[in-house]
Amino acid sequence: MQVLDRIELYVVNAPLPAPFAPSWMPGTIRHNVSFTLARFITNDGVEGWSAFSGGGRDRAGIGDTLANLFLGQDPDDIDAVSEKIHIMAVGGHFNWWLEPAFWDIKAKNAGLPLYKLLGGNHDRIRLYASAGELREPMARRDEAEARFEDGFDTLKIRVHDFDEKVDIEHISDVALHMQGRMKISVDCNQAFRLTQNGPAPLWSLDRAKRFVDAAADVGLAWVEEPLFGEWHEEIAKLTAYSRVPIAGGELHLMGYRELARMAKMGCYNILQPDAMWAGGVKQGIELSRLCREQGLKFTPHCWSNGFGFIVNAHVFAASGFADEMLYEYPLAPPGWLPVGRDAIIDQPFMHDQGWFDMPQKPGLGIEIDHAALAKYGRCFFKADRQQRYWMPEALADLK
Ligand SMILES: [Mg+2]
Repeated sequence: MQVLDRIELYVVNAPLPAPFAPSWMPGTIRHNVSFTLARFITNDGVEGWSAFSGGGRDRAGIGDTLANLFLGQDPDDIDAVSEKIHIMAVGGHFNWWLEPAFWDIKAKNAGLPLYKLLGGNHDRIRLYASAGELREPMARRDEAEARFEDGFDTLKIRVHDFDEKVDIEHISDVALHMQGRMKISVDCNQAFRLTQNGPAPLWSLDRAKRFVDAAADVGLAWVEEPLFGEWHEEIAKLTAYSRVPIAGGELHLMGYRELARMAKMGCYNILQPDAMWAGGVKQGIELSRLCREQGLKFTPHCWSNGFGFIVNAHVFAASGFADEMLYEYPLAPPGWLPVGRDAIIDQPFMHDQGWFDMPQKPGLGIEIDHAALAKYGRCFFKADRQQRYWMPEALADLK
C-alpha cells in the first residue's frame, strides 16, 4: 500500500524583476515572492508539492504537526487529508494549501493532469488580466491598452482610496476610455483588511451602493469584494440592490460550509473561492456544483504565487464554468510577472494571447527547478517515518 514516507518544508524568497506595491496592502513594497513550500514523498517515490504565502518564520512550527498527522497515512484519501487539516485548524492553524499537494500525488498515481482526474475537459482556458497596483488615471489607461495589446479582452483594476470620488473617477475614466474594446472590472479588496503597514479605507453599505451605481452606469463587468467579508447580511443586501454583478469569497477559511451558506443567502453573484485558503480543491469543486444549482457563477481567485495559480486553474478547468467565465491571470508589470511569480517552477505559466494551455503532465503539472530552489529556498524541516530533523539556522536571519 502507498503511504506517505517523507515530508520536507522550505522557506522561499525569490526576487521580483522590480518592486511591486499591492493595492490591498497599503504602505507595502514587495521585492520578493515569498512562500513556504511543502514536499510530500510517498514510499514508492511519488511527490506532491504545494506552497503558500509567507516566506518568513510564519509556519516554522508546523513540521511536527504535519509529521504526526500525515506520515504513514494513505495520501490518496482526500477526505482523511481534509479531516487532518481541520484538526490543524482546530489547533489554530489554517493550512488548506496542503490539500492540493495530495491531489498532486493522487493525479500522478492516476497518470492524469489534475483537472482531467476531476472530470474536466477544458485543455485551454480563457483568462482575464488581473492588475495589482493603484495607478493614476492616465497610467491606468496605458495599462489597459497594454493588456488589450497582450490579447486580453477583460482587465480587473483596483481601487483603495479614502475618497470615494477618486475611486469612481478611476473606474469611469478607464471604462469609458476602453469602451467597446475591452471590459473593465474592479476589485475593491474590502473583504479582508491588511493594515499592518498603513491605513486602509473601510466601506459602508451606503458607500458600496453609490460605488456599484457608478460601476453599473459605466458598464463594468463585475465589482469584487466591495464590503467586509463577514458582513454577510450587508453583502446580500448590496447584491440584491446592484445592477452590476457582485463577486467575492476568495479567502474564507471555513471553506465550503460558509461559502455555501453565503451563496444561499444571496451574498454574491460570482463565487471566487481560492483552494489554497478556502477548503482546498475538493471543496472548491463542490462549491462550483452548488453555484450551478443556485444559478450563480464561479471562478476562483488565484493571486499568491505560481502554485496558487496552477492549483486554482485545475479547479476552474474542471468546474463546469470554463465555457462561460474567465480565469484570473495576475499581471502587474514591471514587478509582478510570471517569471517572478512562478519562482522555482521550471517553466513559468505564461499566457498565450489571453488564453492558458493547461499542463498535460500528470498531477498539478509543476516541475520544480531544483537549482532555483537551492538558490532561493532553505529547508527548515525534514521528517521520515523514523526521524525528524529541525534546521533552525535556516530561519535564523529571516525578517
Ligand atoms: Mg479579489
